[in-house]
Amino acid sequence: MHYVSTRATSASEARNPESFSDILLGGLAPDGGLYLPVEYPQVSAAELTAWRTLSYAELAYEILRKFATDIADADLRALTARTYTPEVYRNARADESSADITPLRVLADDADGKLVLQALSNGPTLAFKDMAMQLLGNLFEYALARNNDELNIFGATSGDTGSAAEYAMRGKRGVRVFMLSPQNKMSAFQSAQMFSLQDPNIFNIAVEGVFDDCQDLVKAVSNDLQFKVRQKIGTVNSINWARVVAQVVYYFRGYLAATTDNTQKVSFTVPSGNFGNICAGHIARMMGLPIERLIVATNENDVLDEFFRTGVYRVRKSSETLHTSSPSMDISKASNFERFVYELVGRDPERTHALFRKVDTHGGFDLSGAPGADGDEFKRVARYGFASGRSTHADRLATIRDVKARYGITIDTHTADGIKVAREHLQPGVPMIVLETALAAKFNETIVEALGTDAERPAGFENIEGLPQRFVAMAPDMALMKAFIADHTGL
Ligand SMILES: *Cc1c(COP(=O)(O)O)cnc(C)c1O
Repeated sequence: MHYVSTRATSASEARNPESFSDILLGGLAPDGGLYLPVEYPQVSAAELTAWRTLSYAELAYEILRKFATDIADADLRALTARTYTPEVYRNARADESSADITPLRVLADDADGKLVLQALSNGPTLAFKDMAMQLLGNLFEYALARNNDELNIFGATSGDTGSAAEYAMRGKRGVRVFMLSPQNKMSAFQSAQMFSLQDPNIFNIAVEGVFDDCQDLVKAVSNDLQFKVRQKIGTVNSINWARVVAQVVYYFRGYLAATTDNTQKVSFTVPSGNFGNICAGHIARMMGLPIERLIVATNENDVLDEFFRTGVYRVRKSSETLHTSSPSMDISKASNFERFVYELVGRDPERTHALFRKVDTHGGFDLSGAPGADGDEFKRVARYGFASGRSTHADRLATIRDVKARYGITIDTHTADGIKVAREHLQPGVPMIVLETALAAKFNETIVEALGTDAERPAGFENIEGLPQRFVAMAPDMALMKAFIADHTGL
C-alpha cells in the first residue's frame, strides 16, 4: 500500500508513492497536500462476516494491516493488542463494558428510527482523540526504535489535542513532548489533566499569553528549518494519516455491533471540526462498509455545514471564529477537508491544488455550479452519503436536558450537537449511530448551566485539580522557547 499527496502533480517531488512508515511521523506532504492511499483497500462480504466475532484489538489489526503493509504482521498485532485493551479504556459508564472499547447504547427505537450512541470517550483523557492518539504513541515508539531515532513533538493546545497527545506519548522511549498552552485560559480540569503528568518526557509550557501566541511560537519554530532538523521536531496534528486511519476502525466496529448481517445499513452522525473524524467514516464507506449516510454536525462555526448545504467552502478568519460551549469544534477551516475534496473532484491533484490555492488567496471556493462558480462537483456529494446540520448553544442546553430526562444519561456538549443534528436525519430502518466524542465531565460548566448539577466524574478523576502539577511558565519569547527545548533534548 502506497501513499500520494492530494497535490502531487507530475512535476512534484511527492509524486513518488511513499510507504506507511515513511509518512507515519510527518504531517503535510512537502507540496502542502495531504497523504492518501493510492487506492482504498476493499473489504469483502466474507471478511465483514468473519470480523463480527473479533475483539476490538483484532479488528483494528485486520483493518490496519490493509494500510500499514510495511509493518510486520506480528508487530502490528502486538501494537494493536497493547493499544485497545480495557486497561486503557477504563472509563466506561457503570452499565457499559470497557472490554467493548467503543460500546453502543440504544437511546430510542420507534417509528422515527433508531438512535444509537457509540462511546468513543472511555480512554485516559475522556475524549475520542485517545482512540487514534494511543495507537500513534505505540506506533511512534516502535518506528523510532526500529530506526534508532528520536522525536520531539512540539505543539500548542487549548485543551483536547494536547492532553490526548501527552497521555499517548508519556513514558514512550525516544519521544519527548513540548506542549504550549495559554496560561490560566484552560478550565481547571483541563490544566489539571495535563499538568498533573509527572513523566520526565512530558514538558508542559504555560505561555503568558493567549492561544494565538502559542500558535505563533509553534509556527515560528516550524519555519526555522535548521532548528527543526537539529532538534528533531515533529507534530501530531489531526492531518496525520495514521490518526485518520486508526479512526476508521470504530466505524467498522459500530456497524458490526449495530447489525446482524451485511445487507443492513447504518448511518453515522459526527460532531465535526477539522473533518478528521468524519473523514475516517468516508474512508470506511469507500472500503465498502455499508454506510447509508454520513452526517456532519457543526456548532455555530458552521463552515462545513455551509459547504454541505450549498457547495460553497468559505473559510473564516480566526477573528470570526466564535468561542462556543463545544470548543473542540471551534474551527475557522477544516484541515482534513482536502482529503474529501480530492475525491469529489475525481482524484485530480492539479484541480485540488488550484482550489486550495484559492482558499489561500480568496478565502474559499464554490463548487455549486452557479454562474461564475469554480465547478459543479457539489452535485456529486450525495453519492458519498454526506449531509449536514448545525447546532447552537441553546440547542446544546435543550439536548443535554432532553437526553437526561428521557434516557437518564448526561452527554457532553459536542455529543449534544451530534444528537441534535442526528434527530433531523433519522430514517426508519437505518440505525443512526451518533459518535460520543467526549464525556460530560470535561465540559462541566455547560452541564451545570443545563442541568443545575455537576457532571459525574469517572473513578480516578474526583480530585484531579488537587494533584501536584508540573509545568513551567514562560513569556511568549521565541529565543527562550528554543533555549528551553535545546536544554531538554540535549541535541
Ligand atoms: C476534536 C474533537 C471534535 C472534532 O473532531 P474533528 O476530527 O476535528 O472533526 C469533536 N468533539 C470533540 C470532543 C473533540 O475533541
